[in-house]
Amino acid sequence: MRMAAHRIAATLPSVGWKTRLAIACIGFCAATTLWSQTPQLSATTQQFVKYRQPVLAITHVRVIDGNGLPAKENQTVVMRDGRIVKIDAAVQPPMEATVIDGSGRTLIPGLVGMHDHMFYPSPKVNPQASYSSILPEQASSFPKLYLAAGVTTIRTTGSTEPYTDLELKHDIDTGYIPGPKMHTTGPYLEGQGAVFPQMHELADAADATATVNYWIGEGATSFKAYMHITRAELTAAIAAAHARNIKVTGHLCAVGFSEAADLGIDDLEHGIVVDSEFTPGKQPDICPDRQLVLANLATMTVDDPRIQHLIKYLISKHVAVTSTLPIFETWVPGRAPIVPRILDAMLPEAKVEYLAQRDRVNKTTDSPWPKVFKLEEDFEHAFAKQGGTLLAGLDPTGYGGVIAGYGDQREVELLVESGFTPLQAIQIATINGARFLGEDKATGSIEVGKAADLVLVNGNPDKNINDIENVELVFKDGVAYDPAKLIKAANGTVGLR
Ligand SMILES: [Zn+2]
Repeated sequence: MRMAAHRIAATLPSVGWKTRLAIACIGFCAATTLWSQTPQLSATTQQFVKYRQPVLAITHVRVIDGNGLPAKENQTVVMRDGRIVKIDAAVQPPMEATVIDGSGRTLIPGLVGMHDHMFYPSPKVNPQASYSSILPEQASSFPKLYLAAGVTTIRTTGSTEPYTDLELKHDIDTGYIPGPKMHTTGPYLEGQGAVFPQMHELADAADATATVNYWIGEGATSFKAYMHITRAELTAAIAAAHARNIKVTGHLCAVGFSEAADLGIDDLEHGIVVDSEFTPGKQPDICPDRQLVLANLATMTVDDPRIQHLIKYLISKHVAVTSTLPIFETWVPGRAPIVPRILDAMLPEAKVEYLAQRDRVNKTTDSPWPKVFKLEEDFEHAFAKQGGTLLAGLDPTGYGGVIAGYGDQREVELLVESGFTPLQAIQIATINGARFLGEDKATGSIEVGKAADLVLVNGNPDKNINDIENVELVFKDGVAYDPAKLIKAANGTVGLR
């Protein structure tokens, strides 16, 4: 990994911070080498840390383990060297532990966000700009906000600045900046007809193969096909990725869900709301007009035999579906959130534009979205109930208002609205994602031996899922971060950086 200029220009003196810590560690190294799971943290990162002793214990806490098992009351959870080492009702915290009183609180696994971009739509300050939507990297605010809300692992699921994503991952992994564990997706694999200027348009199948191979070499660990990709390009991309044991997901349009399943795709983003295959007049490899797709879906219900057949087909082909209900909620008149913490996060210009567009959405009288949103919720519930792998994300795009971390919490709440129990919704948003990423031995549930990636919330999300928003501490590899400090450092900048 190349050294980025910013690291050399850091606020620390001429020797790098890692070198400085290594020097400082002479004489204390026996203690520091215990930190096998966690890197040494820079001064920047340490500002946001509340507890970082080698041994932490949370007492009298309710535990929701992420595996879907019933909540356990009055537990003691002990973390040592970044890992969970004990979960028991009777256990006394070790003498050397820093003890955190968990009375009235619930411990859940860190969320695993599976559609968690590092970008966000910039406000269209200049209405004469040639492009309607530009999606700049939120390299400063989003890592903080994901972590603050309890998201300890993300898949970026399509990147507009893949080099920045890769550098961010490096900087987080080495403790230079605070943020979630990142699984970096390559740049969008888009065909001809891209609407975003930051997306490369594939020329053909050979270009798809070359693009996938190049970005695997750079460090991408997954790929996302986009709306105009053709069957030939998608086939080539899947073959190149699978040859290196890398998974492909897609927000598709020109290719229908059943076709994509036949081609061997691993995951479908967003669910039925973007599936064009039932749209009357759909031509092969052509993305139909979005309004036609939506208008048609608004006439369908989950009981439609075509949808029931699709659900069974996707399950038989082991294709996962990623739920991104928060982004679609913003298009349903009367539903887009107007929540102080969301508005506080935004750049002033971004807030003005979000509220204006929200107003336009709310005034729409003939919107297909109320029906389509209900169909999506029913589809996801039926898909998971019949045995499909449902994953959870937020998708911080559209016209804004879907904010890193807060949107991940909203996703869990909307899964409950869709008919899942709180325990099931938390399971979808934690262990399901970890398993899909191949990380379930390391994270995704509260079990002895796993990384201490945990969220301490005030209240009981098992009874009231909205309590998931009351985050008091976020543990990543046993380091406890202070969400209030992370949020304060990010506020007012979403939409800018
Ligand atoms: Zn997206």
